[in-house]
Amino acid sequence: MYNKITPEILVELKNITGDEFVFCDEESINLHSSDETEDLKFPPEVIVKPSSAEEISKIFKIANKYNIPVTPRGGGTGLSGGALAVCGGICLSMVRFNKIINIDTKNFQATVQPGVITQTFQEETEKLGLFYPPDPASRGSSHLGGNLAECSGGPRAVKYGVTKDYVLGLEAVLPTGEIINTGGKVLKNVTGYNLTQLIIGSEGTLAVITKINFRLIPLPKCKKVILASFNALEDATDAVAKIFQKGITPSAIEFMEKAAVKAAEERLGKKFPNSQAEAQLFIEVDGNYPELLDKDIEMIAEAVEEFKVIDMVLAEDEQKVQDVWSLRRGIGEAVKSISAYKEEDTVVPRANMTKLIRGVKDISAKYGITTICYGHSGDGNIHVNILKDKLDDKSWHLNLDKAIREIFELTVSLDGMISGEHGIGYTQKSYLPIALSDSELELMRRIKKTFDPNNILNPQKIF
Ligand SMILES: Cc1cc2nc3c(=O)[nH]c(=O)nc-3n(C[C@H](O)[C@H](O)[C@H](O)COP(=O)(O)OP(=O)(O)OC[C@H]3O[C@@H](n4cnc5c(N)ncnc54)[C@H](O)[C@@H]3O)c2cc1C
Repeated sequence: MYNKITPEILVELKNITGDEFVFCDEESINLHSSDETEDLKFPPEVIVKPSSAEEISKIFKIANKYNIPVTPRGGGTGLSGGALAVCGGICLSMVRFNKIINIDTKNFQATVQPGVITQTFQEETEKLGLFYPPDPASRGSSHLGGNLAECSGGPRAVKYGVTKDYVLGLEAVLPTGEIINTGGKVLKNVTGYNLTQLIIGSEGTLAVITKINFRLIPLPKCKKVILASFNALEDATDAVAKIFQKGITPSAIEFMEKAAVKAAEERLGKKFPNSQAEAQLFIEVDGNYPELLDKDIEMIAEAVEEFKVIDMVLAEDEQKVQDVWSLRRGIGEAVKSISAYKEEDTVVPRANMTKLIRGVKDISAKYGITTICYGHSGDGNIHVNILKDKLDDKSWHLNLDKAIREIFELTVSLDGMISGEHGIGYTQKSYLPIALSDSELELMRRIKKTFDPNNILNPQKIF
């Protein structure tokens, strides 16, 4: 369907970026063949590292002329295979777009390039007393551009929202080569369709983001964390809705079942408090006045006590709060290191979470598979890791797809969606019709065709 990269095309690409930013050696190809999605490998034919929107525009002109697919790549931490070059062609690495152009402390805004590492941006804003809340656990290596493409969330979404809520405007290159500017630097804007929000979450299939205008908020001055442990999964998930009913919005409420905590302890060589408990809630509150946070903590303790809580541990000083967060952030990688796996990213209204987790455990028992659940329970976003563990190859291949379908059907029946923050990408596309109607899918296909008539940008993703 697509043409292969020829020596002539390589010369044209090198003329755009310079020889030193075009790579075809085995090591580079290997490095860019996979992301963090299972054990999938799709080698691109060439990796190109441009440094400006104009260079990307020229690369697209070549891609259209020769019918070559282009796959944008950020930090390569994606969990739905979005950065995989499944049709070969050009891997468009955004690593050289790594500048924070400006942090505007008067307007609480920042203009950055998309290849900036998420954590670097968070830390630079915090030095100026500003706060960029989106906080994926992969923040040490994910790019802001990848975060926009996936509309990343993370634990603080429950109080502060997700990536899209902090983007005011973009510069982006369309697959047809035009450079566009969407939105701007204003907090309100009803000037035409909202192209900014259409591109955010489009998983690198509509345009390549080359500059981002963010809005920021003041950095809360203090945080406290309470770890509550329970004897039953249901007690932990039921307690979540109760906390909100008390009128408190924590800055994070993370749910972890025992197997997730144990995996993190083992991998990190550290102890989690009460790790024998069936489930834990990690609840963070933040604000400017410690005494008000104490009040919140009291109310949270009252709420969770209604649910047979075994123990509550309070972390108040900065170091203890960081320790608990580092364990929580380690869970994803720890669980994935147990065996072959498939990670699902279900999201339901939070009061339906208990039904989701119970249903997932029933489906696991029916198919003899192991599931480990953890995630952002404040917004009902539960990551269901399905592990091969000791299951034989035949049963794994026979039952996996059926089990996932049932989990997704259950999720949708609970008013949920099949991905909250990891995207559909390559791995979830066959399940999309469970969540979206034919008309909805057709409209999305037409939008894709309008942006990318020759289907050269990140083909084989989402649909
Ligand atoms: C251990 C671990 C923990 C994680 N925790 C979280 C979490 O808490 N919350 C969460 O939301 N996600 C999480 N993720 C998933 C992942 O980190 C996010 O999806 C992240 O946003 C991907 O960013 P990236 O730069 O690595 O993108 P990549 O994986 O490189 O690419 C992801 C998608 O973005 C596209 N893309 C990249 N850059 C651009 C650009 N400039 N313009 C257009 N498209 C682009 C790619 O084509 C691809 O489709 C986690 C992943 C891991 C491995």
